[in-house]
Amino acid sequence: MTKKKRLLTGDRPTGALHLGHFVGSLQNRVRLQYEYDTFIMIADAQAITDNYDNVGRIAAHVYELVCDYVSVGIDPAVSHIFIQSMIPELFEMTAYFMNLVTIQRIGHNPTVKLETKQKGFREGVPAGFYLYPMFQVSDILAFKADVVPVGYDQAPMVELTRDVAKKFNATYKTELLVIPEAIFPVSLQTNLLGLDRNKMSKSLNNAIYLKDTRDEIVQKVRKMPSDPDRVDYHAPGSPEKVLVFDYLRIFDPDQEGLDALVDQYRKGGVMDKTVKERLIEVLDALLVPIREKRASVAEDRKRVESILREGTKAAREVAGDTLAEIKEVMGLVFPL
Ligand code: ATP
Ligand code: MG
Repeated sequence: MTKKKRLLTGDRPTGALHLGHFVGSLQNRVRLQYEYDTFIMIADAQAITDNYDNVGRIAAHVYELVCDYVSVGIDPAVSHIFIQSMIPELFEMTAYFMNLVTIQRIGHNPTVKLETKQKGFREGVPAGFYLYPMFQVSDILAFKADVVPVGYDQAPMVELTRDVAKKFNATYKTELLVIPEAIFPVSLQTNLLGLDRNKMSKSLNNAIYLKDTRDEIVQKVRKMPSDPDRVDYHAPGSPEKVLVFDYLRIFDPDQEGLDALVDQYRKGGVMDKTVKERLIEVLDALLVPIREKRASVAEDRKRVESILREGTKAAREVAGDTLAEIKEVMGLVFPL
């Protein structure tokens, strides 16, 4: 039997998962989990790099993420869900890998630059935050992941990981580390935009969450801006300026019906309310089964704990084996 290839991906436990995660990463994970040996990391240590003064909130969201995963169809019988901070081997690896990257390279990461601006750190940028891509390097390399399904904001991190793996292999004359490939979302060309047109993010308060109630969806969709240049609904409109249409393009199962609505909107005579009602129905239909499944997982805390316990045990074994191999090829072995 040929060995399955391995998949590694993860999320920061900074909040509940949202529609961006659904199309950006969760759909790929659900699709690939039976084909690949799948590890899903809850990146609590990474989340603390910009939440060091609110660790309790991060820890609480670890459990929430497990509920979100199971509710969208991640199957804990095959996908190992684990907690980053419980795998100390990852941090030791980071120490070795940091020697293979320059500070200048770290400073050029466009995602970190943008996030640094958005977060507006008042006391300067925490060193841990500045270096968080190096944690990701270890997370991916420790598992010898062949593929990493992520959103577009993660492209620089996977690129960095590939470079570190190549440099490690070349420096220590080995083929130990696997050069990973990023897998980007099939149904998106960029990250899903949030209600404020920045990337939909847990930390920016601009998201529609998978656990949102129908009422919450209604409130959020009604507030979405329409075409700013259209005086009233009789006038021709520009659907490309309207985020509601972007969401429909991604989530509406009836794309032909949507084409007709887009044409009509362009000519004039379609009320924004009609378009919004359509989006509310589409999102609610998508989220009803997810919400129901989530509720049943959330009330079974013992099951959530056991998923994390099993997943973390499996992950620690793999990371431990890789660390031992890393030290061996580096020559850091002392038979004392
Ligand atoms: P935070 O604001 O705490 O950074 P986040 O919403 O950006 O949270 P992450 O946990 O950082 O979520 O990202 C987890 C995964 O989801 C990554 O692979 C990321 O690329 C993907 N992802 C996050 N937001 C989006 C989005 N808006 N569209 C597509 N993919 C996304
Ligand atoms: Mg993020």
